[in-house]
Amino acid sequence: MSSTSTSLHLSLHQLDVTTLARMLDERKVSSVELTRHLLDRISQHSALGAFLCVNEDIALAQAAAADAWRAKGVHGPAHTLLGIPIAHKDIFVTRDFPSTAASKMLDGYRSPFDATVVSRLAEAGTVTLGKLNCDEFAMGGANENSAYAVARNPWNPSRITGGSSGGSAAAVAARLLPAATGTDTGGSVRQPAALTGITGIKPTYGRCSRYGMIAFASSLDQAGPMARTALDCAHLLQAMSGFDPRDATSAEQAVPDFVGATTALRAGASAAQPLKGLRIGLPKEFFGEGVSADVLSATRAALAELEKLGATLVDVSLPRTELSIPVYYIIAPAEASSNLSRFDGVRYGHRAEAYKDLNEMYCKSRSEGFGAEVKRRIMIGTYVLSHGYYDAYYLQAQKLRRMIADDFQAAFTQCDLIAGPVAPTVARAIGSQKDPVAEYLADIFTLPASLAGLPGMSVPAGFGADGLPVGLQLISNYWQESTLLHTGHALQQVTDWHLKAPAGV
Ligand code: GLN
Repeated sequence: MSSTSTSLHLSLHQLDVTTLARMLDERKVSSVELTRHLLDRISQHSALGAFLCVNEDIALAQAAAADAWRAKGVHGPAHTLLGIPIAHKDIFVTRDFPSTAASKMLDGYRSPFDATVVSRLAEAGTVTLGKLNCDEFAMGGANENSAYAVARNPWNPSRITGGSSGGSAAAVAARLLPAATGTDTGGSVRQPAALTGITGIKPTYGRCSRYGMIAFASSLDQAGPMARTALDCAHLLQAMSGFDPRDATSAEQAVPDFVGATTALRAGASAAQPLKGLRIGLPKEFFGEGVSADVLSATRAALAELEKLGATLVDVSLPRTELSIPVYYIIAPAEASSNLSRFDGVRYGHRAEAYKDLNEMYCKSRSEGFGAEVKRRIMIGTYVLSHGYYDAYYLQAQKLRRMIADDFQAAFTQCDLIAGPVAPTVARAIGSQKDPVAEYLADIFTLPASLAGLPGMSVPAGFGADGLPVGLQLISNYWQESTLLHTGHALQQVTDWHLKAPAGV
């Protein structure tokens, strides 16, 4: 191998989707070479716990197929994802790889079909390297609830990645992949993106099909891309979005040109002031006590950049922000207790070896198959739905959920976007939080948009305590993902936080 090709290969993993697509089109690298390079990196960095499975043969076959399409003349802006290696959170079911939801309950489970998001990305030409670690059934915010491994933060392996899409975040941040899929029920794309210094977007509820996403809380679950830049997220979201008759809550909403909107000049704006006319609302509840000083100052520094780009900052209020925690931790477990009843040891999943009767079979299979956090949520969910408690908890939570959504609509009369922190602190140490309720409190800034079904994004906003990344959260009104992507992209044109990589990467 010549020295130029060696140095080319050394830096391949540092490049984003958009740059790699250009190099693939210019035949500077093939998808097979790129895939081989990333597979090597993945095996060198297995200690991060990012992947639950990798299949080199499948990945290389897909890469060879992508190269063959390019050789036939398929290339250019409409085919940016052709030959780009990615991986899927192990919440999406896949035919080619096991699908576990990071649970012992689904150990070795093979789906007979691909999730819609998986098949849409495959149709766009992506190469799938494998499946990514996460919290069991996506329940958690630290990836410590995976039945297989804790995912480690590439910025400091003794710290959490955040969760539940922790494997996706670790893989993208450590440059094992240029992009990955995640899912977000109460923050699981945005929070791990923030804690690992990458970009992630949860679209409007209904934008991406939930078909083949192992269900946690069906009224909240959404898929979303995680990548290094807003523009790369736009490319993935473009492919992932759109109506799907197999998901009853999939929206019949036209998919805009996300990629075009990300880079296009807004009406009335200029190249120097691309955000001119954009009003960004700062909810006072997102900037009060409870946010650590380092996160606040990084958030404010990012907001100052947005102001320099022409945006106007306005004060708004989301008065029920605090209530989003009890509301979410009633509704999500309620839905989970129902969704997870299908794992009974009969149809699929783990079955206990010895049992006296059917009841004991259910009981033992579920006790052995589920981890502690999943069991806790099934019990809470069953309780809040039970006769006598339903009105006091579940119904009340549903009413408050509507009021939380209404608060956003009131705020959006004063602004186009809402901004604030994603998480109250930088990534904590692995094993340092034993109190589940205290852990739930850290979701305070991501839950409101989830409950309202609004799109939210995390973009790198510099670094806080111990040199760990901080994310800026941007929330828009329904179906306005383009505004989020455009704003994130504008910020990434004038800052280099998203370009910083952990040491040694
Ligand atoms: N941390 C939240 C929870 O534990 C969110 C998880 C998610 O979005 N999947 O439920």
